This record gives sequence, C-alpha cells and structure tokens, in this order.
Amino acid sequence: MKGNICPICGGMKVASTTSFTVDYNTGVVVIRNVPAKVCTQCGEEWISDRTAAKLEKIVSVSKKQRQEIFVARFNNYSLAS
Ligand SMILES: [Zn+2]
Repeated sequence: MKGNICPICGGMKVASTTSFTVDYNTGVVVIRNVPAKVCTQCGEEWISDRTAAKLEKIVSVSKKQRQEIFVARFNNYSLAS
C-alpha cells in the first residue's frame, strides 16, 4: 500500500477524477472526468503517464477547434464540442 500514501502530507491517495485545464494564447481547453489519484488530506493530484499522454492528444485536437473555451470529456473527447 506504499504507493497510496501521499508523499507530501502522508495522507491517503484514492482513485478519483479531476479536471485538467490548459490556458494557451487564444483560448482555454478544459478536460473533465480525468482519472487521477487524489490525496484525501491535502488534495494533491497525480495523473498516470498513460493518462498524461492521452491528455496531450486531447489538447492538441482541442486547440484546432479554435474556440475561446473548449470543454472535452476525457473518455469521449472526439465527440465533445
Ligand atoms: Zn497529501
């Protein structure tokens, strides 16, 4: 269970979801329902490498939409608009 202890405060990390926001020159991309581990004590969030790689792809696709605010869902990003 060592992997579930928060290295910052010693609290418990639990599987949860979070929102990921990228602010760039012409707009903001918000990705919701991103799977993450969240510390129940201090609120720090961890995203796996695999999740981070998918987030990068979603952001690059979302930027092409050229909307001021683009909201995507992590599990269904290609259909969100
Ligand atoms: Zn913590």
